[in-house]
Amino acid sequence: MNEIELLRRMIGFNTESKESNIALSEFLTQELKKIGFRTEMTEYELEGVKKANVYGIKGPDNPGIVLSGHMDTVPATGGWTANPFSAETKAGRIYGLGAADMKGPIAAMITAAEQAGGLEKSVEIALTFNEETHFEGVKKILDSGVLKGDYVILGEPTQLQPVRASKGFASAVVELYGTAGHSSNPKSGISAIGASQVFMNYLEGLFNRIKCKENPDFQPPYATFNIGKIQSGTAVNLVPDYCKLEMEFRPLPGQPQDLITEGILKILDTLKDFKTCRDYKFEITDSAQGFELEADDKVLQKAIDITGKDASTVSYCTEASCYTPVGKKCIVLGPGSIEQAHKPDEYIEISQMQKGVEIYRRAIERLCGK
Ligand SMILES: [Zn+2]
Repeated sequence: MNEIELLRRMIGFNTESKESNIALSEFLTQELKKIGFRTEMTEYELEGVKKANVYGIKGPDNPGIVLSGHMDTVPATGGWTANPFSAETKAGRIYGLGAADMKGPIAAMITAAEQAGGLEKSVEIALTFNEETHFEGVKKILDSGVLKGDYVILGEPTQLQPVRASKGFASAVVELYGTAGHSSNPKSGISAIGASQVFMNYLEGLFNRIKCKENPDFQPPYATFNIGKIQSGTAVNLVPDYCKLEMEFRPLPGQPQDLITEGILKILDTLKDFKTCRDYKFEITDSAQGFELEADDKVLQKAIDITGKDASTVSYCTEASCYTPVGKKCIVLGPGSIEQAHKPDEYIEISQMQKGVEIYRRAIERLCGK
């Protein structure tokens, strides 16, 4: 099976994060076995849904590189003009949910591992579940201790440009409590909307200080924040007693998340002390670290050489957030474009798939060969 047939078969399995990925895991385990991998498929149950990671190793026992990918996809939202699972091919593109993010890159990795010769070190493949939600799959595979190689190539779609760093991510919810009252006498209550206004001003100040640290490798070169959702109020003549703000932050790699959480807690304590609000709740709902590989890293240099493209950085999170804290070095590199990910009519160009196989094969041979 070549990379195109493999991808088309993979698209046929619905592996939206909320669905089971057992059938795709079984299929890929068989495919890896056929091309000489020793495999392990490990099953889990998460909120009543069966999930699996697939691990494979090929070649001598001497650790080489790990090729890593996630089998799950985001949900197929409205707007698809084709069936998201039918792998329709037209005008040099394969359409399907996960075509670029990242069933295409996985198919290219597997085909490259089949073609690569002269291995003196092992090639490992780590295929995970729930990357699009909370990284549970990669965390489990790391906990299992099965991975031997120190370098991980993550096949997210980067148009085959090596990516050596990404920003981190955190989302948070702030709930402000006031006291209800009538608008004819605003002092009879404590306005939670008023408190949110003061909170946002302080938050802006906090971020202006955090933004002073710049890293020119990123676009924009500083940490960002965004308040994406506010809920409050019931009527114009009532002082609102509750306001909920949902926000996200993207710190630079190496910028500790505590800098933000402690700063926010200090603001909220001040608001409470000065009775701008009656009380508050604060929760970090999700977070992932950024990562950064040194620009002169020897494996990165080889990746630059093989692809003929300079290393870049991205502002979205990948499983590198989980690999780097345990000492693995990561390069994100894959065919296809992130522009097509998480959108209706997702596709990958066949030419990118073919180039992807070629680049992965050369990377395996350079990093696991003599
Ligand atoms: Zn992805």
